[in-house]
Amino acid sequence: TTEAATAPLQFLRQRNLQAKSDAEREAILADPGFGQHFTDHMVDLCWSEKGGWHRPRVRPYGPLSIDPAAAVLHYAQEIFEGLKAYRHADGSVWTFRAEQNALRLQRSARRLALPELPVAHFLQSIEEILTIDEAWVPGAPETSLYLRPFMWAKEAFLGVRPARKVEYTLIASPAGAYFTGGVEPVSIWLSSSYSRAGEGGMGAAKTGGNYAASLLPQQEAYANGCSQVLFLDALEHRYVEELGGMNVFLVYGDGRLVTPATSGTILEGITRDSIIQLAKDRGLAVEERQVSLDEWREGVESGAITEVFACGTAAVVTPIAELKGADFSIVNPAVGSDSLTLSLREELTGIQYGRVEDRHGWMTKV
Ligand code: PMP
Repeated sequence: TTEAATAPLQFLRQRNLQAKSDAEREAILADPGFGQHFTDHMVDLCWSEKGGWHRPRVRPYGPLSIDPAAAVLHYAQEIFEGLKAYRHADGSVWTFRAEQNALRLQRSARRLALPELPVAHFLQSIEEILTIDEAWVPGAPETSLYLRPFMWAKEAFLGVRPARKVEYTLIASPAGAYFTGGVEPVSIWLSSSYSRAGEGGMGAAKTGGNYAASLLPQQEAYANGCSQVLFLDALEHRYVEELGGMNVFLVYGDGRLVTPATSGTILEGITRDSIIQLAKDRGLAVEERQVSLDEWREGVESGAITEVFACGTAAVVTPIAELKGADFSIVNPAVGSDSLTLSLREELTGIQYGRVEDRHGWMTKV
């Protein structure tokens, strides 16, 4: 029953006896980079068709034991999330809209025929790791502890059907400032041969396969001096969708923000949703609709579009300097210090790091 599913879990807590020393941890936190170092513990929960969610554990970070026939390795039945914990000036640790990540994980689960993890279980798992590995949340400006919850099909069975045994695992990794020395505008590459997601596909789910599909075009982007790929719709190859790991906004000089509607093929970014709210709070008009590449090009040419930015958990809000393709380039206006892009970035990071009032109740103290 729903009530049984959301009764608080009793985690079995197994401390890591080989945890890193304070000195080792401090050395890592001084220059954490991204996604290379992991905290001393991880959290996991098992699910089976018969037993539901069970065996909640906090245990030493380390290799998982996985059967070579586990469905995830063959049919990619896997979903994940990405969110951050922030240290405020008074030393306290906070999460930002974590329940939104819990809900998105549930939506991804539905699309991948995985069991839905109750929101309360998700939030409890985050609280567990942040309590036991609190010392791993860095404190320098713009740093954070990146949290990576994921769910994977564990059942050893080669038949193609939803797994009857699943595991939910949560790991954490300290993250440095995304840009050292201020925000750097990025150049992005328009992929003309590849699509990310089509109508009825998995584009709105945060599932490994979508990222696997983005790797080859991403390589093309690097080869062309760009750091991210822009994907267009798979049908007409005309409408802007999103970047490999960020959503996109166009800013009009008349005070409108325009962003592609989330109609099933793009990820419903939580940063995107927050930016929409902050813009509306300022009295700006936000249009969620189809955005064609022509609109972008013509708007920049006529001067009607004054800023273009990308947003996501990793880099928060980042100006897009240029969109390049095999046979064209759109050079967006330079983003000045008085731009909406940088002001929205400042407001959002201000809320996350406790410098700006949290009027929407987005922050939760651990
Ligand atoms: N699109 C894609 C494909 C992503 O991977 C991400 C990062 N999760 C985003 C958009 C931005 O989402 P969020 O703001 O929730 O990080």
